[in-house]
Amino acid sequence: MKLQLKYYVFLTLTIAFSFSEIKAQNKVLILGIDGCRPDALLAAKTPHLDNLWKNGAYSFKAKTDDLSWSGVCWTGMLTGVWKDKHKVMGNQYLNPNIKEYPHFFNLAKQQQPDLRTYSIANWSPVHKILQYNDATVVKHKPTDGLVTKSVVKTLKNEDVDVMFVHLDNVDHAGHKYGYAIDNSKYIKSIEKTDKKIGRIVKALQKRKNYANENWLILVSTDHGGSGTNHGKAIPEHTTIFYIASGKDVEKGEIKKQVYVIDVAVTALKHLNIDLKEAWNLDGNVSGLK
Ligand SMILES: [Zn+2]
Ligand SMILES: [Zn+2]
Repeated sequence: MKLQLKYYVFLTLTIAFSFSEIKAQNKVLILGIDGCRPDALLAAKTPHLDNLWKNGAYSFKAKTDDLSWSGVCWTGMLTGVWKDKHKVMGNQYLNPNIKEYPHFFNLAKQQQPDLRTYSIANWSPVHKILQYNDATVVKHKPTDGLVTKSVVKTLKNEDVDVMFVHLDNVDHAGHKYGYAIDNSKYIKSIEKTDKKIGRIVKALQKRKNYANENWLILVSTDHGGSGTNHGKAIPEHTTIFYIASGKDVEKGEIKKQVYVIDVAVTALKHLNIDLKEAWNLDGNVSGLK
């Protein structure tokens, strides 16, 4: 009898200890809004994005590559290195150096091969830096509406660990009507995109296992613009925003200079990936505790 009691005490303690050991699963969602100037984002009515940055870490003075083309900047964001290393110099993605500086999905999988990664984009060239052997689920959708629909469905039904989402309408509006805070059509496109962000975040929070998941949401852009174009090394083109939302962020404005290349590095950190010296990353962790 005494022995049995001892056994039960032991069992109870073991079970209690095991439960206390269960940690929420760290996951990352990156929302990329192409060509969205931070001043225009602040001028637009964007309740969903406001909710993320006002309760999160943020910078509206972050910097992207001096060569402010989409291909160059998205590659920096997703590899964590500048163009002298990743070698993508334009939207044609000629000879990307992904063998030496791969997409961060690939870096993460070197240590956690079972991670389930997703890339859902309106502008399909962003997928050109994914590795052929990387088991990423890749979806190209021709409109932001269809991207959003696909993201919502995927978040509902799939066991996602990391997801990159690319929305393109704001950049389309900039090229067509002009990138400026006094351009109502450009502002309107940001407001419409905010509604899509709202649908995506809601879908995330409705995930079956959400209570046991620890999501970091990163929202940023590849570049700004002026007139009806971008590509130059001027503040209107190279100033971007950076938002980090989740339980592990240090709330408030990020005081140091934030760069587009910090996105991949911050995502890796949140996934508990050991940031290897040999990877030679340029970015830093931004906005986490
Ligand atoms: Zn772009
Ligand atoms: Zn553009």
